[in-house]
Amino acid sequence: MSTPRSHFDAVIVGAGVVGVASALWAQMRGQSVALIDPAPVGSGASSGNACTLATYACLPVNDPSVFANLPYYLFSNDSPLALSWGHALRHPIWMMKFLANCRATKSRQIAQELAALLAHADAGLNPLIEAAAAEDLIIANGQLTVWRSATAADADRAGLKFRRDQGIPFEELSGAEAHAMEPALAFQPARGVYYPLARHIRDPLLLTQRLHQKFTELGGQTIAKAVTELSDEGAQVRVHLGQDDVTAARVVLAAGAYSAQIKGGGAEHLPLQTERGYHLIYKDLGHYALRPVGWVEGGFYTAPMAQGLRLAGTVEIAALNAPQNPRRLDYIARKGAELWGDLPAPDATWMGCRPTLPDALPVIGPSPSSSKIIHAFGHQHLGLTLAGVTGRIVADLLEGRQPNLAIGGLSAARSFL
Ligand SMILES: Cc1cc2nc3c(=O)[nH]c(=O)nc-3n(C[C@H](O)[C@H](O)[C@H](O)COP(=O)(O)OP(=O)(O)OC[C@H]3O[C@@H](n4cnc5c(N)ncnc54)[C@H](O)[C@@H]3O)c2cc1C
Repeated sequence: MSTPRSHFDAVIVGAGVVGVASALWAQMRGQSVALIDPAPVGSGASSGNACTLATYACLPVNDPSVFANLPYYLFSNDSPLALSWGHALRHPIWMMKFLANCRATKSRQIAQELAALLAHADAGLNPLIEAAAAEDLIIANGQLTVWRSATAADADRAGLKFRRDQGIPFEELSGAEAHAMEPALAFQPARGVYYPLARHIRDPLLLTQRLHQKFTELGGQTIAKAVTELSDEGAQVRVHLGQDDVTAARVVLAAGAYSAQIKGGGAEHLPLQTERGYHLIYKDLGHYALRPVGWVEGGFYTAPMAQGLRLAGTVEIAALNAPQNPRRLDYIARKGAELWGDLPAPDATWMGCRPTLPDALPVIGPSPSSSKIIHAFGHQHLGLTLAGVTGRIVADLLEGRQPNLAIGGLSAARSFL
């Protein structure tokens, strides 16, 4: 029996969709790669999302409307965004930075940066889908966004213009046209927008598993352990695993919302927090929606997928390790019944932790603590969409190559303000 390898060209910490996409890109480029995660591959935030390759979704949660709605977010049980008071008081600087990024000029700068990254999203993901023979998991049927009230739709006009200016294709629809696209909706929306190039994934967990399977077939190694620390030893980086440490020429920190917990990785002092999100699944109602439907006022998506109808979204700013909040699940169930008519009890519920920096941009690039450590985390609402392009950038950085898009704005050295 051959002794297990203990030195690699690259070690990827975290086997969510971002880590697995990075591992597969690097392995396809001929590097020897180990992927390390104590949890099953893809089982974190990457498993429970709204299934949408949302290449149009460049507008961040950080938006001037947050100021006006703040009392509602803090006090109402009927809001798509909820904030834990205790958490906010423990992290006042993060909260201030988050709010500072809601200023109109900042919000547009962030949107510009996201739009530039999203423009490469499909080109980053498609080669992985092809390599993993995962085309059967991808559905190209667009995405429909609906507004129930004309006032809410009018308030988003400037955002639509911004998208148009970025060259993002969409069709504006009357309420009747939007309803005709999704006849099972329980109310006729005031207006809709259709994004024809958006695709969705039948089963996001299965997609990550398929990418991982291809990674393994190409010789990639997976280690089921928690990384506690990374230390730059000059010629290599030591990846501390409690026992049987491994070493690598370069290490990629892709542990999602947990990335700041790994000592020596250079993320410990970054303002990484989480926006927790929830989903409910109705296994027999998958036929209700024909494509992902985003209801703006409700703050969640409905996606038809392998397990049925998934209602997924909302934002809860609370601690990573706080228990599930049943009020957030109730909120989605209640609003789901407004959107689709009476719903039975859900067959499954879930909560997951989106990794989020206060300026809603991921951190992709070298760590401030070591040029041999590469950061790839903080993809907030867009990690499924951006995993492929992140992986491609990571593979370039591992090879010491210049990525074919500017990543300076995603640097860990930015001010996050
Ligand atoms: C409700 C909801 C809906 C969403 N909808 C969409 C959508 O429609 N489209 C979209 O693009 N995005 C969506 N997202 C966002 C997307 O799911 C996330 O951005 C993405 O999954 C983040 O991936 P990740 O790999 O960074 O993190 P994760 O999937 O959380 O993976 C991180 C991994 O790191 C591992 N880890 C932690 N600590 C250690 C350690 N010490 N050592 C080793 N490994 C460690 C964890 O076990 C985990 O497996 C949604 C998210 C939510 C919550």
